[in-house]
Amino acid sequence: MPTEEVQSELGVGQDPDGACATDVDVLGVAERAEVAGDPGDGTVEQHAASVERLGAATTQLLTDWLTRFAAAGTMITLRPVLDLGSQAAVDQHDPPEAMRETVMLRDAHCVFPGCSRDSRTCDLDHITGYLPMEDGGPPGQTSPANLAPLCRRHHRVKTHTAWHYKRLDDGSYVWTAPTGLQHHLVPTPRLTRQA
Ligand SMILES: [Zn+2]
Repeated sequence: MPTEEVQSELGVGQDPDGACATDVDVLGVAERAEVAGDPGDGTVEQHAASVERLGAATTQLLTDWLTRFAAAGTMITLRPVLDLGSQAAVDQHDPPEAMRETVMLRDAHCVFPGCSRDSRTCDLDHITGYLPMEDGGPPGQTSPANLAPLCRRHHRVKTHTAWHYKRLDDGSYVWTAPTGLQHHLVPTPRLTRQA
């Protein structure tokens, strides 16, 4: 469902700039909502949303919650639905907020083998190290494909030891230990789509 339809269902609008606006705040339980779409049978107008730290809900239930919270004076922030498949790159070291969020949703934890630190507490590491363009670095080094969440400890391990890793086209990671032993890691996404 397009973002505008979600906003419409939630009874909130866009600001005059067209940015996805309105200040919705969901009790701290629902920071992000991602719409999974209808069941596709063409007969039932039923939509589902997956809300971070809360789980699956129908958009009708989500609408009811937000209406109730808004009536109680709760500030709500409604964020646009992100395209997790976007690989758009930028010519700067620090990722824009939407790109950072995309990586956090894609990989819910530090991607070092065996680490379960929430990616929201992690650094975003350039898998292929960033080289400033003024020093001869190529454009487009900062993109979801070249970013991965590493907790501070494992960021240091990657930076200062012989551990290294790469991200495969399927989104999994292959780490190589100093011993040469390899570890394959399939990250867990933050949101699980519900039909
Ligand atoms: Zn870690």
